[in-house]
Amino acid sequence: MAIIKVNLENSGYNIYIGNNSYTQLKEKLQGDMRYFLIADNNAFINHGKKFIKEINKAPVDIIFVSGEKEKTLKKVESILIRMAKANLTRSDLVVSFGGGVCGDISGFAASIYMRGIKYYQVPTTLLSQVDSSVGGKTGVNLSEGKNLVGSFYQPQGVFINNKVLETLPTREIKCGKAEIIKTALINDIKLVNEIIAGKDITTLKFITSCVNIKRKIVEHDQFDIGERMLLNFGHTIGHAIEAKTEYNKFSHGEGVAIGMALITKMSEKYNLSDEGTYEKLVNILKKHNLPYEYDGDIKKLFNYIKNDKKNFNNIINLVFLKNLGNAYIYKISINKFYDMLVNV
Ligand code: NAD
Repeated sequence: MAIIKVNLENSGYNIYIGNNSYTQLKEKLQGDMRYFLIADNNAFINHGKKFIKEINKAPVDIIFVSGEKEKTLKKVESILIRMAKANLTRSDLVVSFGGGVCGDISGFAASIYMRGIKYYQVPTTLLSQVDSSVGGKTGVNLSEGKNLVGSFYQPQGVFINNKVLETLPTREIKCGKAEIIKTALINDIKLVNEIIAGKDITTLKFITSCVNIKRKIVEHDQFDIGERMLLNFGHTIGHAIEAKTEYNKFSHGEGVAIGMALITKMSEKYNLSDEGTYEKLVNILKKHNLPYEYDGDIKKLFNYIKNDKKNFNNIINLVFLKNLGNAYIYKISINKFYDMLVNV
């Protein structure tokens, strides 16, 4: 089992990666400690019983989450009420067992219940294992845009077991691949070359590499004011596509894949990426059956892009690839961005 330590100012936690990582959680839950379980429906149907058996402790209560549509303040309120009804105190814990949606909601609920109680992440999708469970970004969507409400609130530990991915639908595996590809593209040409060489990118080795890249970036910039924005490569357009299509046409990973392609098509056209970068990127996406084109009206995406968290006073921080494995932040006015993107 790999153990990756996240070192942050005033805090730190371990990420356990391997088929027996749940035994680590079992140790943490020993004694009088009580925990409230927030579980993704499908993850729980497939693995819940076994998970509870492995950690050898039943939750005080359990609430289920099912998909992006439920990533709302309303859902958070219902979770908080159930926590209060279960008399959860600040010496108790929240455990999230599910994908990125479950993890983001659980972390947010934990961060505001009694002004913050501890929580653990048990990610069960590829996307959440390589990305969302690490780094402490929590939150929910508004109809005006994605992840507009939330907090930075680090978990006390992350427990990754890639065995649970065996029941993940193919589409969800693809979504995780999109974030793996993104992570490699912004930071690691060696990993990009392995992807191009056709290696299986869903292995523990790839998961561990991505977690490590994210860990390093989060350690340098926990609150997303500099380097951490690189992790948002493809996300400004991706989030807008998800919101515009009401979270039911494209999954997060698909939005990100299209976002990476569109932004790179644009940056290359304006000589802000090396020639050929877009084509190489599209070839990678095609190889993994990920989308790279948007058939809707790009102009309409700007209603959502204006609400992007990287927009400061109508100057937005975009992430461009200089070339594969090498990303940078580019500040631009929303108006200029609009002109450039609609002309791609
Ligand atoms: P998800 O949580 O909706 O899970 C995808 C689907 O897989 C769901 O239908 C779920 O029921 C099912 N599922 C989960 N585990 C399963 C399993 N083991 N077997 C079978 N089915 C299973 O989606 P996701 O792709 O994991 O996460 C996307 C979310 O993550 C988005 O809301 C995005 O904003 C967020 N995100 C957050 C961060 C962050 O830093 N906090 C980073 C990236 C993405």
